[in-house]
Amino acid sequence: MLSGKTALVTGSTSGIGLGIARTLAQQGANIVFNGFGDAQQIEKLYREVGQEFGVQTAYHNADMSKPSEIEAMMKFAEDKFGGVDILVNNAGIQHVSNIEDFPIEKWDAIIAINLTSAFHTTRLALPGMKQKNWGRIINLASVHGLVGSAQKSAYVASKHGLVGFTKVTALETAHTGVTCNAICPGWVLTPLVQKQVDDRAARDGLSNDAAKKALLAEKQPSGEFVTPEELGALAVFFCSPAGAQVRGVAWNMDGGWVAQ
Ligand code: NAD
Repeated sequence: MLSGKTALVTGSTSGIGLGIARTLAQQGANIVFNGFGDAQQIEKLYREVGQEFGVQTAYHNADMSKPSEIEAMMKFAEDKFGGVDILVNNAGIQHVSNIEDFPIEKWDAIIAINLTSAFHTTRLALPGMKQKNWGRIINLASVHGLVGSAQKSAYVASKHGLVGFTKVTALETAHTGVTCNAICPGWVLTPLVQKQVDDRAARDGLSNDAAKKALLAEKQPSGEFVTPEELGALAVFFCSPAGAQVRGVAWNMDGGWVAQ
C-alpha cells in the first residue's frame, strides 16, 4: 500500500519507533531511521529491515535536540529519497521527579526532543508534502498529552504541547492531501518504561514481574501493555486512503487509561 513512499521515523532505533518503522516497511515504504545506539547494531538493524521487506532503508544520526542536525537529516532524506512522504515524530525521553527538584537541563532536553523537534521536522517536511499534495504526519504523543501524572511535569507539558501542535498542523493543511494526527499510547514495554519498572522494583523491593503488574494496575485497566506493532497498525491506518479525513485527532490506544 505504501510502496514508492518514504517514511522518516525519528527515534526508530528502539521501542515504538522501531515497531512503527517495521510496520510501515511491511507496507512497502522506504524508511529513514534515526536515533541513538551502537553504530554497528544500527547498521545491521536498518539493513535487515530493508532485506526483510524489500524496501530501501537509510539512517541519519541527528540529535533531535539540535535544529541544525535536524536540518541535515531532512536534507539527507531529500537527497536520498526525494523527500519525506510520511513523517513520524517519535523520538522522546522521560524524567520522573517533583517539580521543585526537576533538573533544569532535563526540562530543557525533554521540551526540545519531545516537542520542539516536531516543529523543526514538520516545517521542513511540509513544503515537499504540499507540493506532492500528499503527506502524513504522525506525532507520537502519549496519554500524557491528554491527562497528567504527578512527577512528569516536563513530559506532560511536552506531550500536551505536541497534541496542540498536531491540531494546528492539521488545520493549516486541511485543504490539502496532507494530514496530521497524534497517537497517544498508554504503557508500552520499551526501554523507556522498563527503566520505570526497574525504579519501582528497587523502590518497593519487587520482582520485575510484580513491578510491571503494579505499574499497569495503577493506570491501565486492561492490565496489558500496548505493543509497538499495534501502534504501527494505527499509523498504517492513518496512511491509508480510509484515513484521508482523519485530521487533527489525538487517538489514544491505552488499555482504557483515559476512559477512567
Ligand atoms: P525508547 O527509549 O525505547 O526509544 C526512544 C528512541 O528515541 C530511541 O531510538 C532513542 O535513541 C531515540 N532518541 C532519544 N533521544 C534522542 C535524541 N536526542 N535524538 C534522536 N533520537 C533520540 O522509547 P519509546 O518508549 O519507544 O518511546 C517512543 C515515543 O513514544 C516517545 O516519544 C515516548 O514519549 C512515546 N510514548 C511511549 C510510551 C511507552 O509506554 N513506552 C507511552 C506513550 C508515549
